[in-house]
Amino acid sequence: MLFDAEAESFASGPAAWRQACRRLGLGLIWPVVCAGCGAPDVPLCVLCRRVVAGPAFFQPMVGWPPGWGVWGATAYGGTAAKLVLSWKERGRHDLTGPFGAGLASALVACREADSASAGSWQLVPVPSTSGARRRRGGDLVAGLARRAVRSARPAWLAGGYGPPPGVAEILTHRRVVRDQGELSSRARRKNLAGALAVRPGLRFALLQRDCVIVDDVVTTGATVAEAARALTSAGARVVGVCGLSVTLRRQGVSTSEYLL
Ligand SMILES: [Zn+2]
Repeated sequence: MLFDAEAESFASGPAAWRQACRRLGLGLIWPVVCAGCGAPDVPLCVLCRRVVAGPAFFQPMVGWPPGWGVWGATAYGGTAAKLVLSWKERGRHDLTGPFGAGLASALVACREADSASAGSWQLVPVPSTSGARRRRGGDLVAGLARRAVRSARPAWLAGGYGPPPGVAEILTHRRVVRDQGELSSRARRKNLAGALAVRPGLRFALLQRDCVIVDDVVTTGATVAEAARALTSAGARVVGVCGLSVTLRRQGVSTSEYLL
């Protein structure tokens, strides 16, 4: 599904069983615990929910053009990292809702800060590798972007920002890449250089739209830099980057030739 589809549950395997047990009220068979702290009977307790709820902050990235950076909802590390790991690798897809609400705060803050943007926005999720999609049952970041749009809708309309953004899964890998998590900053750039491209025949989705790149975690910025390169080389105008969780540190990669 390429555009604006309703968020779907991507659970498969053990995660699907866990969700089915919850839906049927069979908590004794598969007890529900907070993904952050293990508190019983809730998928995400109030305290852990606050970790990913915002408020949004702006993280400048060294080497990026002046004024450029990433809008995030939570600093990466501690409970936030544990939650993201549970969501991505342990089938806790029931966190997509709270994560979407957090990402929505970053999205709205990014829009508020972008007074120059007059057009409607297209959110472009950083694509998962085919291996990650198989392992997780779908592209989690795309689902997260759709949930964020839904959560941001009231604030978006109240702010007079025009139609809520669309979500376009138009980026794809054009070659196999290694898992970024195991690589250094320099190796990440090399791993991803030229790895992303706009899907053939879908450049029309970029016409007259300002693009905002969306990812779940932004660390060195190498992935979003490659996404920006792929989009701008296809004629898109990239106006912002939003992540659910952003590493707070002073390093990044240069995107000055890509971000307009
Ligand atoms: Zn908790």
